Amino acid sequence: MAFNVDHIRKDFPILSREVNGHPLVYLDNAATSQKPQVVIDCIVDYYSNYNANIHRGVHTLSQEATDKYEEARTTIQTHFNAEFSREIIFTSGTTHGINLVANGFSSLLTEGDEIIVSALEHHSNIVPWQMLCERTGALLKVIPMDETGVLQLSAYKEILSEKTKLVFVNHISNALGTINPVKEIIELAHDVDAAVLIDGAQATSHIKVDVQALDADFYVTSAHKMCGPTGVGMLYGKEIWLNKLPPYQGGGEMIKEVSFEKTTYAGLPHKFEAGTPNICGGIAFGAAIKYLNSIGFNAIKKQEERLLQYATKELLKIEGLKIYGTGAEKTSVISFNIEGIHPYDIGTIVDKLGIAVRTGHHCAQPVMDFFKIPGTVRASFAFYNSKEEVNSLVAAVKRAKLMLQ
Ligand code: PMP
Repeated sequence: MAFNVDHIRKDFPILSREVNGHPLVYLDNAATSQKPQVVIDCIVDYYSNYNANIHRGVHTLSQEATDKYEEARTTIQTHFNAEFSREIIFTSGTTHGINLVANGFSSLLTEGDEIIVSALEHHSNIVPWQMLCERTGALLKVIPMDETGVLQLSAYKEILSEKTKLVFVNHISNALGTINPVKEIIELAHDVDAAVLIDGAQATSHIKVDVQALDADFYVTSAHKMCGPTGVGMLYGKEIWLNKLPPYQGGGEMIKEVSFEKTTYAGLPHKFEAGTPNICGGIAFGAAIKYLNSIGFNAIKKQEERLLQYATKELLKIEGLKIYGTGAEKTSVISFNIEGIHPYDIGTIVDKLGIAVRTGHHCAQPVMDFFKIPGTVRASFAFYNSKEEVNSLVAAVKRAKLMLQ
């Protein structure tokens, strides 16, 4: 079926609401996506019809819930092309997945080992590794970027060495939208036998990711960025790596046998899934992935590129407006400032006109420090945004500029 944004918008009940007396224009998709009716229905169906704890009960409800939860794991496995469903660990989100891996590496690193991050990261992909360095004495090195927001691979090659044990970069930057050359970054890391974790929080709503084609050792994302609910996500790990890592949390579900003398752990994926998980969230994550695939990632890409190009062209007509991170291929994120105006003031005024954008450092303070700015205004588009909404954004930014200058 041909892509029709008006039809697609009808799938999202929230898009028909008003904010401050104006139709909502939701351009904060990089923070979280909106949810289609099928995902909302899936959540209502779970709590209305088969809410039960999983993996434990012999009763019918428990078996139904277990089957649906494991079906969702298989949907996620197929979508990301993991070899085995046991390589998909349900997490509470990207942050949880990164912390799980960082914790696991505590027992694999020693003083003098090196780990590499990029200059373009979200705090979630910086702080857990700094904590790992504190625990182990490992050293954190940084791949720099240039003025246009592009990572410097020549500098990366120089800091890679046989001391490097792990590299972790985001697939797409949340602050600028830059698509990073992760395949090349992974290949170069593997040349020195370092493992690689890719933070896919900003990528998986725009791109159909194939973890085997990338040859990523770990790949993490959050369902809420992909039209799914908050509080759930996935960690993909190659089986060989997940077997090397110790469990992250202890508790029910993750054990084989428990006695006061000795406990043995369950196999994958349960070894990393202590406690009652977000059952409904996991099932709804599966529904969200099915929904995105029903739209099709080619159609999503085309629509988002159209919006990005149009919005970039129109916004750049505003005198004094500067867009950050224009040097590489990027997704539908426009991070900008207007000379002499604080981004927060622009965000506040456009909100009065019904437009939701994000202002601030976007949990990527090192990126803002690099550009010597306190923050930016970030408009981030999804496939359900329209050209008319871009026009509303541009008109509102012009109005904010007139009021504030
Ligand atoms: N990494 C990136 C690139 C992100 O954009 C985000 C969310 N803004 C995260 C990590 C953290 O994701 P979550 O808060 O869902 O754990």
